[in-house]
Amino acid sequence: MTQNHYDVFIIGGGINGAGIARDAQGRGLSVYLCEKGDLANGTSSASSKMIHGGLRYLEFYEFRLVREALHEREVLLNSAPHIIWPIEFVLPHSPSLRSSWLVRAGLFLYDHLAKRKRLAGSYSVDLTSSRFGKPLKRFVKSGFVYSDCWVEDARLVVLNALDAAKKNAQIHPHTEFVKAVRGDKQWQITVRHQHGREETLTARHIVNAGGPGLRKVAERIEGVTQLPLPLHLVKGSHIVVPRLYEGEHAYILQHSDRRMVFVIPFEEDFTMIGTTDQNAEEADLAAPKISQYELDYLLEAVNLYFTKQLTRYDVRYTYSGIRPLFDDGEQNVSKVTRDYKLVLADDCLSVYGGKITTFRRLAEEAVDLIVADRDEDIDRPRWTQNAVLPGGDIGSSLSIFTKQVIEAYPFLPENLAARLASHYGTRVHQLLEKASSMADMGMHFGYDLYAREVDFLCKTEWASQPDDILLRRTKIGLHTDPATREKLADYLAGGPSKL
Ligand SMILES: Cc1cc2nc3c(=O)[nH]c(=O)nc-3n(C[C@H](O)[C@H](O)[C@H](O)COP(=O)(O)OP(=O)(O)OC[C@H]3O[C@@H](n4cnc5c(N)ncnc54)[C@H](O)[C@@H]3O)c2cc1C
Repeated sequence: MTQNHYDVFIIGGGINGAGIARDAQGRGLSVYLCEKGDLANGTSSASSKMIHGGLRYLEFYEFRLVREALHEREVLLNSAPHIIWPIEFVLPHSPSLRSSWLVRAGLFLYDHLAKRKRLAGSYSVDLTSSRFGKPLKRFVKSGFVYSDCWVEDARLVVLNALDAAKKNAQIHPHTEFVKAVRGDKQWQITVRHQHGREETLTARHIVNAGGPGLRKVAERIEGVTQLPLPLHLVKGSHIVVPRLYEGEHAYILQHSDRRMVFVIPFEEDFTMIGTTDQNAEEADLAAPKISQYELDYLLEAVNLYFTKQLTRYDVRYTYSGIRPLFDDGEQNVSKVTRDYKLVLADDCLSVYGGKITTFRRLAEEAVDLIVADRDEDIDRPRWTQNAVLPGGDIGSSLSIFTKQVIEAYPFLPENLAARLASHYGTRVHQLLEKASSMADMGMHFGYDLYAREVDFLCKTEWASQPDDILLRRTKIGLHTDPATREKLADYLAGGPSKL
């Protein structure tokens, strides 16, 4: 048994835990983060994968959240342009649901609430003649176009963890937080590693970033046991179908209940449709799943607008996640605030709500609170606003960088070179170091996955199980059959580095 002391002990390797770890370690605090599963195995890999201001939140007067989120779009675009890129959203106009002046007013605010440099402003479009109208039914005559960003959500979590680790944070996936007991001005903490080995350590502050597991984590912290504020768990699901239309733009559809449903190009061959808002129970936490009602609800939204009609048989893949929201008393689940709340009490910080989009600001505020609570006279300024995440120093354009990677590694099929460029940014050179032929890529598992990438993920990104690689570090699992998974499982069981 080893014993160590840390300034900050973080429970949860989702976007909020990883973001706080990065920020805190970068301000000179020593950090230990434990995650009971893989990094981003919870809500942070089950999002709609958008860095967005949240157009619909304007209707609920969430101006603070929208302004901050709009501002963050540009900050995050600069910090990780390999995994975050602009995407145009087409909003078909449905006069019976929202008047055009209301939509125009909303988009005007969206364009002007925060400064924009790289993202285009909104405009109206004639869908009877525009390419955007092609896949839609004839009754849709006009619409609006605005820009938000796409993000590889699980990769964003890993990059935050990676940056924290580069600065010397201890990052421990597959390590469960067991309990914390109060000592004199510090916590005595027990964690359990993957094969049952327990470790005790001490820390000045605890951060409960357990996401939907917030309450269960609190029950294990002596003296806290009850959450300082109520929690509202709201499930959301997505379906993935074969590519529904050509083009890189997305649609935002107004469903008959006025909720918005996104339709977004996904992984070249697919279209992703979501999301829903359903009250969730603690029992749903272990493995949230789409219900029949949610499935039908999402199909209905698409079938309202698109000429191609989808059935349940078109659905190739589904995923669900649970939002750990601060319970503001709102009964309508779609209206419960998505803004975050941080509560620091008795040296334990509890994290509620938030968006992938606002994780950096949430982390800044969390670390500000912790720093202010320390008895010290040290300046620990904020630093992440202009900092680049690992691999993000690709220059201003992903397409130029991709071309450079294709040219630098002519032996790679172009699709693979392009995928690696976008997945790893400038870290691609580390992955491909000394490779000069396909033989150097090692064993082929299926689709475009080779042992060299698997080894890289195991060595540098904490991957250890097939799903870590097939569903979170990459989305190759969507393109492969069970044989790929089995081959990969066998390979991983033998340990990496077998080129
Ligand atoms: C359907 C849906 C769509 C969304 N779409 C978007 C979007 O497009 N854009 C956007 O900005 N936001 C979106 N969000 C919101 C965003 O995904 C969440 O706010 C965010 O992922 C929450 O992150 P988190 O770190 O708090 O929680 P999580 O990602 O769930 O992380 C918590 C972690 O704590 C770990 N944990 C729990 N208990 C323990 C323990 N005892 N020991 C160790 N570890 C533990 C869990 O395993 C988990 O990995 C969406 C959310 C949902 C549900």
